[in-house]
Amino acid sequence: MKRAEELEKIISASSVVTVTVHTHPDGDAIGSGCAMLRYLRLIKGKKAALIVPTAIPTSLSFIAEDGEAIFSFSDAPQECQEWIAASDLVICQDCNSFSRVTGVEPYLRASNAKKILIDHHLNPDTESFDLVISKIDISSTCELLYWTLKEMSDVEGDLKKLPQSCLDALMTGMTTDTNNFANSVSPSTLTMASELLAAGVDRDKILNCIYNNYRENRLRLMGFMLHDKMTIMANGVSYMILDKITQERYGFEYGESEGFVNMPLALAKVNVSMFLTEEDTKFRVSIRSKRGFSANSFAMKYFNGGGHEQAAGGSLYFGKDISSPEEAESYIISSSKEYFAE
Ligand code: 5GP
Ligand code: MN
Repeated sequence: MKRAEELEKIISASSVVTVTVHTHPDGDAIGSGCAMLRYLRLIKGKKAALIVPTAIPTSLSFIAEDGEAIFSFSDAPQECQEWIAASDLVICQDCNSFSRVTGVEPYLRASNAKKILIDHHLNPDTESFDLVISKIDISSTCELLYWTLKEMSDVEGDLKKLPQSCLDALMTGMTTDTNNFANSVSPSTLTMASELLAAGVDRDKILNCIYNNYRENRLRLMGFMLHDKMTIMANGVSYMILDKITQERYGFEYGESEGFVNMPLALAKVNVSMFLTEEDTKFRVSIRSKRGFSANSFAMKYFNGGGHEQAAGGSLYFGKDISSPEEAESYIISSSKEYFAE
């Protein structure tokens, strides 16, 4: 049986569905989560909710519609637990394992519901799911979901049969994950974009919401980080650390540094770029690399993380990897010298 057929069969047999995505959700996670939620509710008539482990950042809140069934586990753990307990189907998207659904993981694992994974990351945890729809060489989970939904019997390739809000969400997540068609674009990605435009998706509106809607703080902080904080090492590794003092100085909100990690790669001499954000118990680490340098294996080896070959992330824990925040710099220097020799 084809994967889409299997997906449809499992969905048809379910009545209450939990859709969930990775912690600190990005555009692809929220876009694919909302698209699936809308498909389940508006086309399949299911009771469904999207559970995000941590809140949707303000900069991406435009993807969600008013009154939609979206719960954040960090804000409303009780409601999320109850919804999961009542669900007979869990669909996990844009992450390769329940371990990325931080905080929610034990409730998902304990659930007797059928479990489906729809994802484009390396190393999917096939053991924990009844059905895995995984494709690594694709731009985004939104693109994978797009091609999957098109195969469903109630769509039959006709995008008009899907709600416009579903198409908008898919276009949004594909756009953010490709960094507006700068990376991971294949012919199928452009075909998807072309078909979505033909189906009436307003790309200009989406681009304005994603890229032209920030507070002034973002650009002031960007200037400061690039001017005062960017360090470039002789081995082609660049790093920037957004510490707590700087966050306070610029009134930083989660999501406002989106994309900063890409910028140093504009330099010919930079092959790997790292961006660290200080939190209470750890640094969140973002890594991007040029072809031939693996962000994924570097993140796995030194930063308790992973992701894709050229875009990965992880965490650097205080009291485990480093004893205090001040040690981050020397950790980066030694690990990157060890991994990316000059
Ligand atoms: P970002 O730097 O935008 O947060 O993440 C880049 C990519 O790495 C995304 O595909 C994301 O899912 C993945 N990623 C980020 N943090 C982690 C992590 O802690 N563990 C794993 N396995 N992947 C991560
Ligand atoms: Mn993604």
